[in-house]
Amino acid sequence: MVHFVGSGPGAVDLITVRGQRLIREADVILYAGSLVNPALLKEAKESCEIHNTAVMTLAEVLSVMERSAAEGKRIVRLHTGDPSIYGAIREQMDALDRMQIPYEVCPGVSSFCGAAAAMKTEYTLPEVSQTVIITRAEGRTTVPKRERLSALAAHGATMVLFLSAGLLQQVKSELLAGGYGPDTPCAIVYKATWPEEQIVRGVLNELPEMAEKSGICKTALILVGDFLGDEYALSRLHAPDFATEYRNAVSSDAERL
Ligand code: SAH
Repeated sequence: MVHFVGSGPGAVDLITVRGQRLIREADVILYAGSLVNPALLKEAKESCEIHNTAVMTLAEVLSVMERSAAEGKRIVRLHTGDPSIYGAIREQMDALDRMQIPYEVCPGVSSFCGAAAAMKTEYTLPEVSQTVIITRAEGRTTVPKRERLSALAAHGATMVLFLSAGLLQQVKSELLAGGYGPDTPCAIVYKATWPEEQIVRGVLNELPEMAEKSGICKTALILVGDFLGDEYALSRLHAPDFATEYRNAVSSDAERL
């Protein structure tokens, strides 16, 4: 059995309880050494065989899985954040299907959630944005044409860019061309939830300089949108005049806000 496990954004105690148990029980762990916090591996059994997949091809990863599964071992494939976001797990799962090796997926806290927590912010503010676009700039990996940044920018929604910290001139010009104003608030969140976490705030027009000045060129998320600004509406859910299944409407609330 192979368990794909999301390791969370970095802090060792942000893995799920289930994920931690799977690490403790594993006979073989394959971990994404470029981003997974190696401190998580301290939970593994002493006899556990550990592979860093940062230096392995897909075929090598699959051959370790195939050999270990044939030996009846419990295998954990540890991905950063949540495996469903830029995790390259589909190709592994399809190969396991072909090899008739069973697998399960244990979700993790994605770095975009870790970044929001680090910044103490909310992506979906009433009357500001009710949509979060998770995307990336086109680099060595191509992005379908219909998803080019300028087209996505037309929505003016909250945007979270993965894998793009080294492409910020391109990000800036595409987002400006697409309709975000030059003063749209932005943030670069480096290694959210790690001890070396860094947050740099600014506006879209100065995005490349923000990264240059702080020396950040990887392991960062770029957050863009007015959710980083000061204006928003209060939620309807907790408004006094808003009845729900759980609460009757009341005419007024103590004016504490
Ligand atoms: N599956 C992961 C993303 C893997 S892609 C997740 O759910 O988070 C790798 C990219 O994720 C990095 O280039 C960076 O853009 C982002 N990333 C991963 N961990 C991060 C962290 N702790 N802080 C900021 N960005 C992070």
